[in-house]
Amino acid sequence: MPAVTLTIGVDVGGTKAAAGVVDVDGHIIEKLKRSTPAASPARTAQVIADVVTELASRHQVAAVGLGAAGFIDETRSTVLFAPNLAWRNEPLQQSVQDRVGLPVIVENDADSGLWAEARFGAARGYQDVVMVNVGTGIGAAILIGGELYHGRYGIAGEPGHYRVVPDGRLCGCGNRGCWEQYASGSALVAEAREFARRSPEGAMRLLQLGGGHPEGIAGPQVTEAAREGDPAALRCFQIVGAWLGQGMADLAAILDPGCFIIGGGVSEAGDLLLEPARSAYERALVGRGYRPLAHVRLAELGADAGVVGAADLARRYATVSLGRFQRPGPPGPPASRRPRRRPGRRRPAVRRPSA
Ligand SMILES: [Zn+2]
Repeated sequence: MPAVTLTIGVDVGGTKAAAGVVDVDGHIIEKLKRSTPAASPARTAQVIADVVTELASRHQVAAVGLGAAGFIDETRSTVLFAPNLAWRNEPLQQSVQDRVGLPVIVENDADSGLWAEARFGAARGYQDVVMVNVGTGIGAAILIGGELYHGRYGIAGEPGHYRVVPDGRLCGCGNRGCWEQYASGSALVAEAREFARRSPEGAMRLLQLGGGHPEGIAGPQVTEAAREGDPAALRCFQIVGAWLGQGMADLAAILDPGCFIIGGGVSEAGDLLLEPARSAYERALVGRGYRPLAHVRLAELGADAGVVGAADLARRYATVSLGRFQRPGPPGPPASRRPRRRPGRRRPAVRRPSA
């Protein structure tokens, strides 16, 4: 079987696409960036195809992985819905595959990022992981038993939109009180602006960094002020970090992961975000004191995670396809490894839950 050494990963966001040629160790050999025309699905597919074709002209690649910011169907080929792109039931795999002549897989961008962290980054060695990307909103991905968990229809892992406050803040999804309205970069900025409006004398440093107006305060300014030790900015991180930790405890109640990976733009603030999140998580965890605590770690691969993860998933897919093509055989373990049934002994009855 020929070894699949190089693959291309493309991280497709609302405004730009980053593409990279990635080797088996997760190293990016060459990377390119292009703007994506948000309004036109066909032109976006063409932009992706062009950047892949350019990279493939210089490197011998076996497959292409696309990490797209949207809901991907269970066959990992169609984008059902993308909040920031014009994709609605878009057959992205087919349209890019037809243009580039290489095998293409489509994955959600957060899932690609978690896969990269699990293979090469902060989640290495963990089998059960929840990744929470704290950016403008909250993106998430779930690894169970070492495999990405997609759910029946491909859309699992959107905890940013579970409701934490009944009749709370209006969310971009149309509902109210979603977690991402309280634990995201937007929430951090909203807290800082609100504080500056309410008590300008307490928010002097934030206002100074924001050019004198509450509306001028953005995420990087809150981080900068907090790093200087400004109490108002630190308080914003305390509030948002506490919401983050509470949500992690809720996720632990459902999934019991061994590790949380915190990524996204706001995670660049490091312990400013992680410390309040950790302590709120430990306070809110059900059975605290009597159960092991999941590790809480910062993502390591940064903005490259989507490219590396999509490329590695494409490699995995290509390797499996080649293996299947060249070595057809019955499913299940090889005959020599199958457990033999001892004669004269009956298998114990297995009770199945009723459907
Ligand atoms: Zn929502």
